[in-house]
Amino acid sequence: MREWMVSTQLVPRGIRDKRVLAAMKRVPRHLFVDHSMANRAYDDSALPIGEGQTISQPYMVAVMTELLELTGNEKVLEIGTGSGYQAAVLAELAKEVFTIERVAALAEAAIQRLRELFYQNVQVRMGDGTLGWPEEAPFDRIIITAASPKIPDPLMDQLSNAGIVVVPVGGRYSQQLLKLKKTDKGVQEEYHTPCVFVPLIGEYGWKEG
Ligand code: SAH
Repeated sequence: MREWMVSTQLVPRGIRDKRVLAAMKRVPRHLFVDHSMANRAYDDSALPIGEGQTISQPYMVAVMTELLELTGNEKVLEIGTGSGYQAAVLAELAKEVFTIERVAALAEAAIQRLRELFYQNVQVRMGDGTLGWPEEAPFDRIIITAASPKIPDPLMDQLSNAGIVVVPVGGRYSQQLLKLKKTDKGVQEEYHTPCVFVPLIGEYGWKEG
């Protein structure tokens, strides 16, 4: 099923990074959704994971991961652990992954799954990810997997020099992927794929409700 997912959903839509394709062939996505939904795990769509949240569509996971330009040495911060699937893909491709989830039940389920799958380079914390993870900063890469009005200021402060941020920015119901790169000459911004993510809720995100 994973081979099929990669060859029908990712390659034809332009995902090129061989390491990303290999990671998506390896990570068992069906173990990141409820048993009752395992048969839909490799569908071309996002799926519900409880608490009103979703595991992102495989293609969206692939695009965001590819935009991060991971080589294997990076320290990565993810905001919005959800199921833990994106964190597992990142863990295959980077040195260390720190991921924050605001919903306790999801954070706990993700910790359990990642442990059962022996991902030892991922740390999950419960809390408001818009504040970042100051004790572990700076991060070489930051990925926000929830829709944000803008990049939260604390996250920009926790990004290393030459760091990259990937985030769906825009309105509450539709966004566009933004890739921001810190360089010696300043900040470079590129807009990519249109997308629809659940909202980033927190001090530097949307207000609840
Ligand atoms: N990356 C996930 C999908 C995330 S869905 C996966 O692979 O399954 C977005 C997640 O962001 C939701 O679980 C939501 O609860 C969480 N979230 C929203 N606002 C947040 C915040 N301020 N800090 C941390 N997590 C947040």
